[in-house]
Amino acid sequence: MPVERTLSIVKPDGVRRNQIGEVYRRFEGAGLRIVAARMLQLTTSQAELFYEVHRGRPFYGDLVRYMSSGPVVAQVLEGEDAIARNRQIMGATDPKKAVPGTIRADLAESIEANVVHGSDSPETAVREIAFFFSTTELCPRA
Ligand code: UDP
Ligand code: MG
Repeated sequence: MPVERTLSIVKPDGVRRNQIGEVYRRFEGAGLRIVAARMLQLTTSQAELFYEVHRGRPFYGDLVRYMSSGPVVAQVLEGEDAIARNRQIMGATDPKKAVPGTIRADLAESIEANVVHGSDSPETAVREIAFFFSTTELCPRA
């Protein structure tokens, strides 16, 4: 398995409900390392750009409003097969369809307010990491 990096976000609902630590515990418990982290509130235009791939979908406007509604915590996770493993730890987009034990099944309120974002491919991970972090902000492995 290759060592990969992936972009993860604790979304505004997760920050609001004090779930940052619980989410980090799950990443670290699964052996993923947090190699960069940052809290910020996205502007409307930043949220529009981040979710550009979904522009035109019926949920896009609400998604942009929700993602810019409060602070988020963005982190880069590193580990073997990190992209797919993070997606497994997150669970399905719709918490009702997510496997018990995943972040979304256990913590999410709705298909929109679903606690976490995670990159879905190596190409997306490169783009999304660069969206939040410069190369010098990514820490080398301990
Ligand atoms: N989303 C939504 N309604 C939908 C599908 C997605 O509100 O029917 C939101 C949800 O917050 C989701 C995000 O849009 O996490 C991005 O959707 P995507 O299909 O990329 O899901 P993800 O990769 O986050 O599982
Ligand atoms: Mg996605």
